[in-house]
Amino acid sequence: MIELPEAVVLAKQIKKTLAGKKIKDVIAAHSPHKFAWYCGDPQKYGELLAGRVIDGAINWGGQVEIAAGDARILFSDGVNLRNIKQDEKLPDKHQLLIEFEDGSFLVGSVQMYGGLSAFPEGKNDNKYYLIAKEKPSPLSDEFNASYFNSLFREDTAKLSLKAFLATEQRIPGLGNGVLQDILFNAKMHPKKKVNSLSGGDKERLFNSVKTTLSNMTIGGGRDTESDLFGNPGRYKTILSKNTSDKPCPVCGTSIKKEAYMGGSIYYCPKCQMI
Ligand SMILES: [Zn+2]
Repeated sequence: MIELPEAVVLAKQIKKTLAGKKIKDVIAAHSPHKFAWYCGDPQKYGELLAGRVIDGAINWGGQVEIAAGDARILFSDGVNLRNIKQDEKLPDKHQLLIEFEDGSFLVGSVQMYGGLSAFPEGKNDNKYYLIAKEKPSPLSDEFNASYFNSLFREDTAKLSLKAFLATEQRIPGLGNGVLQDILFNAKMHPKKKVNSLSGGDKERLFNSVKTTLSNMTIGGGRDTESDLFGNPGRYKTILSKNTSDKPCPVCGTSIKKEAYMGGSIYYCPKCQMI
């Protein structure tokens, strides 16, 4: 799943690789997928985008938005984005294929679920898109300790840390993937309740959100995800499908995997306290 670090990396790579390229053709919704979401009628994306030139790309939390004149192309959640060069083979299945005049492509394909949209600027009222645009990025200075503390409210007091940090787009781009190492570094269990946090715990958690996400971004994304060219990120995940049952790097206890709230959580039973 694309989350904040990968979205930052993808937006930079798209800007560097695709800016200035003219869109020749668009094929949307080519391979049927139950959980591929589009904004408006995907069959009209070609009409909207053909002839436009890519200006750049930006991320809003875990979403990647490409600007082409006054049109926008938006990718969210579980979309795999690949740049396909002139001599490379196109994948068989895809949900959004953008062909450029130089014969290269940008391909978006959905694994479990994801959004692929094209729309005139300002004409997308998707709730998650608008929230992600409005809230400060955890990588920005605006996301400081006092902002973080403002997220602790009456309605969040009874939540677990997983629900608090990684649901409702409370922190855009912070999903169940990056959550695991954030909590490991903070030495807290994903099921720990928000109302059990001391002032010191909140400070430790805030620092871990900032430094873990920053390290993941500097590392070009996590090693469980791929970039625009199909290369895995260089940030070595401490807790992920790659490290389940392996020894904890701090104490050597086996890392546990468990299903919790519609996704897997990983934790060290010794280092991470409930
Ligand atoms: Zn441990």
